[in-house]
Amino acid sequence: MSSFLVLWDVDYTLVNAYGVGRNLYRAVFAGLYGRELPAVADGASMAGRTDRAIALEVLELAGVPDPRGQVGRFEAALGRLAPGVTGVVAATAKPLPGAEAALAALAQVPGVVQSVLTGNVRPLAEAKLAPLGLSTHLDLDVGAYGNEHEIRSELVHLARDRAAAAYGRDFGGQASVLIGDTPLDIEAALATGARAVGVATGQFSLAELQATSAHAVLPDLTDTGAVLAAVLAGLGDYQPRPA
Ligand SMILES: [Mg+2]
Repeated sequence: MSSFLVLWDVDYTLVNAYGVGRNLYRAVFAGLYGRELPAVADGASMAGRTDRAIALEVLELAGVPDPRGQVGRFEAALGRLAPGVTGVVAATAKPLPGAEAALAALAQVPGVVQSVLTGNVRPLAEAKLAPLGLSTHLDLDVGAYGNEHEIRSELVHLARDRAAAAYGRDFGGQASVLIGDTPLDIEAALATGARAVGVATGQFSLAELQATSAHAVLPDLTDTGAVLAAVLAGLGDYQPRPA
């Protein structure tokens, strides 16, 4: 039996959380520094980036002295406040179309382990997934999270090592696949020899993702058969069921 580690990005791949993350950044900043997050810092790009990288930029743009010295404190506050957004997520966030079916279908494939590789700190990832019922098929203990490294590709090594330790199997090379909505997701996969699947449900178009060296690109997750084929093409003994 082949082993396969499927690592999902969270924002705009599984979930549209409608700015919950950005609002949380504003709340954390105000709580720690007693002033509103300056507009210039509020505009920091978030797509595909890790919370470590975003927090460093936000602190720097906001003129906070010694951003590197402050970033641990900022991430801890993000984690502390994250459980407080589950109500907002349940009320306003939406799973991306097809996400639940894709997770459930992959969970049926022998040898597949699913988790997340996300820019979110873990409590925020959980706050975005659990209220929408999206964490059922995910082993979040073997995932890798945005406070663990500023560079996304480094998270791939962390997730692989955790999955190998937990399952006693090797998830090197294309036995790991990343699914994400930005060129940074694709880049992280390719830099670590993993399989890269792009999904154009974020701010990047199908054409923009196709212009990367992703192994497969999908318009969205609505065609479960297409998701399985794109994700599992590297799995030698996997035979897609006829539609
Ligand atoms: Mg994303």
